[in-house]
Amino acid sequence: MADTNAPDRGRDIVIDVDLSKRTSELADKNLALLKAHGVRGIDVLGSVGSGKTTLIKQLVRRLKDRYAIAVIAGDITTRIDADRIEAEGVPVLQIQTGGACHLDGEIVRRALGRLDLDAIDLLIIENVGNLICPAAFPIGTQTRLLLLSVTEGPYMAVKHPVMVRQADVAVINKVDLADAMEVDVTQLADDVRSVHPQIKVVSIAARSGEGIDGVIAALEL
Ligand code: MG
Ligand code: ZN
Repeated sequence: MADTNAPDRGRDIVIDVDLSKRTSELADKNLALLKAHGVRGIDVLGSVGSGKTTLIKQLVRRLKDRYAIAVIAGDITTRIDADRIEAEGVPVLQIQTGGACHLDGEIVRRALGRLDLDAIDLLIIENVGNLICPAAFPIGTQTRLLLLSVTEGPYMAVKHPVMVRQADVAVINKVDLADAMEVDVTQLADDVRSVHPQIKVVSIAARSGEGIDGVIAALEL
């Protein structure tokens, strides 16, 4: 017989992501430090393979004559991404998280201590490839850029609402593959805006460079 005294039976479980006080305090301190040194910080978030490193390379290539840029590359184990970005001729500080699947305010605070912030105008931080827990760990940048790729399928925005809500700019990558992936880019962009109406949405093909100027405009750089 059904237990009618179990009110939650058969209902979905929804857990709120509530930022701990300590987490947000660390982020606030990092942001204050960046601002005190006139540094604009951009946190680049996206799954493994979404094209974060390729996007950062394209941004650096177009912006390095106008800004003194440094990059922090978060990765679980390898230096592959850091080396790829360094080939663009800007300093890259690698953070190997040793298994941790996100950066946090404490790790980034230590990284900031190893940079000459007075010599930098623009700091781009490649977060660890993952769209789940970075949503709960702001690192203290002025801007969070969320990168989605059509190769991840049509439901990335609706499946990651917490991340979408925290992002200021959403970039949809690999739009040249949209037909092959049977992903409707307009629908994906609409999904992003339905979760976060104020967000800016830009479509790109990072490898060819298509749309990168639109990302720069959205970042107001
Ligand atoms: Mg990468
Ligand atoms: Zn994590």
